[in-house]
Amino acid sequence: MFDRITVCLDMAGCPNRCRHCWLGCTPNGRLHADDLRRVAAAFRPHTHNLDVASWYREPDYLPEYRMLWALENELSDRRTVSHWELLSVWRAVRDASYIPWLKTLGVRRCQLTLFGGEQMTDYYTGRPGACGEILATIDRLLACDIAPRIQVFVNKDNLKDLEAVADLIQSHRLEERCAAIGTPFAAFVHQGSCDGENARLAAIRTTSEDLARIPPLLTDYTLRHFGAASLEAVFGQTEQALFAELEADGSTASLVSEQPVFFVDKDFMVYPNRSAPAPHGCLGDLREDGADKILTRYRNSGSPAQQARIGIPLGDMVRACGDPSSQRLFTRSDYIDYILNAYCGR
Ligand code: SF4
Repeated sequence: MFDRITVCLDMAGCPNRCRHCWLGCTPNGRLHADDLRRVAAAFRPHTHNLDVASWYREPDYLPEYRMLWALENELSDRRTVSHWELLSVWRAVRDASYIPWLKTLGVRRCQLTLFGGEQMTDYYTGRPGACGEILATIDRLLACDIAPRIQVFVNKDNLKDLEAVADLIQSHRLEERCAAIGTPFAAFVHQGSCDGENARLAAIRTTSEDLARIPPLLTDYTLRHFGAASLEAVFGQTEQALFAELEADGSTASLVSEQPVFFVDKDFMVYPNRSAPAPHGCLGDLREDGADKILTRYRNSGSPAQQARIGIPLGDMVRACGDPSSQRLFTRSDYIDYILNAYCGR
């Protein structure tokens, strides 16, 4: 038995193909309510605290999103959150009743992601028209007294476009409009992790000198959001410094939690949500193996990624896959995941 199990089924995938997506841009599926019931039933005997979600990429993407929300609640023992502060922009501009419905659930903030101006945001979201839909969604959220929170991913190729985000915040008077509904406006920039699609952007990952090019307005919001004293505290250290710190690190680690979160993809392959669903993280096929075998494999560190992390000293993997002269910035935990994925990918 586990203290808690959270299981998220990728019932429909996502309309976007974001270049930074840590979950990876795999094909969309089309699963049904009975699939979610079967997944919940499989994990049910293994915990007294089961939390079930019908998505792990785009929330509320399916037309029956209200029914699925009710079903998630029915299949779960206790929801950890009322509704994530995430929404489907795709749905928000196609379904006039969607955002009012979020409001009835008590949602007071929602996070939206920009990469710069229209062209850059469309490019990074992987869909023409995405930026226009995000801007329309901001207006619809505010009309329902829900405050937008703007997330901005930064790489070397969109630094020059960040001023467009600062301009947008000011020209749309987001600070004042959020204050008028009683919720402080929030925004932040960061570089994200380095897994899934984002790993393909490793070559253009930010370096220390790039931080000075982030507009002061976005810097201020970022420091406030993270409660950080500097952008360095948000973006982390250079790979060079992390390499030097970790190259002789003989530690190993278990990736087993008593409160695991599992992703189940459209083909019912199960992954821990530690990093992007990848072959080296796979715990098995729920339909063929069953939850018993999958959870035993998880507890025994049976996936290749778990075996590597518990069996191979961290320093060995860093020396094998790290770059001792790289100036790219990582948080420590993101760097360890990046190294583990790179090592397993070999
Ligand atoms: S980052 Fe989110 S919205 Fe973008 S492709 Fe991934 S799951 Fe979809």
